[in-house]
Amino acid sequence: MSNQSFEGKVHVIEHPLAQAILTQLRDKKTDQITFRKGVVKAGRLMGYEIIRTMPVRRTKVTTPLNVQAEGIVIPDLENIVIVNVLRAAMPLVEGLLKAFPLARQGVMAIQRVEDKPGLQNIRAVRYFGKIPALKNEDTVIVADPMLATGSTLSEVIGEVQNFGRPKRTIITSIISCDYGINRVLKSYPRVEIFTLAVDHKLNEHGYIVPGLGDAGDRSFG
Ligand code: URA
Repeated sequence: MSNQSFEGKVHVIEHPLAQAILTQLRDKKTDQITFRKGVVKAGRLMGYEIIRTMPVRRTKVTTPLNVQAEGIVIPDLENIVIVNVLRAAMPLVEGLLKAFPLARQGVMAIQRVEDKPGLQNIRAVRYFGKIPALKNEDTVIVADPMLATGSTLSEVIGEVQNFGRPKRTIITSIISCDYGINRVLKSYPRVEIFTLAVDHKLNEHGYIVPGLGDAGDRSFG
């Protein structure tokens, strides 16, 4: 599941169902409702893959037959904070919440501003943000369907750090690209990225190629 070129920081989810959903999301013929529902399903699957990386504690329970059975608990599930990067992440968060129903939630409204042509001129301007106070045992999951230039996610993670020092900070992104991954990891080396694909190209407007287009527009019309 790990992409070696990013030293185990990028988890590409190879589950066939996740990859089939990704294929549908990439297809320009996929309609708005199917697209949005696909992002919800992808969020749920990403959540399950994150849970796979969480430590477990052995326990015993007594069944209705009054016999003991061995099992596990996953303590980190009690300490999840999901940050919703509006608006494109809304369906992704809906899916993540199915995996993490106890999560506390934050929101960040970020506008991408392209002052003049050129990737280096794309800026992320935050105009609203609210994040719950973070505890050291928290896992913060930042949801943004596209990790493209990394401007938005760097802004969000920078802001998250003002609210505490969580145990883990994870980005969930349907498609990521090398440029944005490198940029985020350079500034925030402790961050982990869960994604369905790493594409290698960004166009001059900061869109991932081949990508899936504008994730917000495709979900919401
Ligand atoms: N945001 C999108 O919605 N799509 C991209 O390709 C890049 C950023």
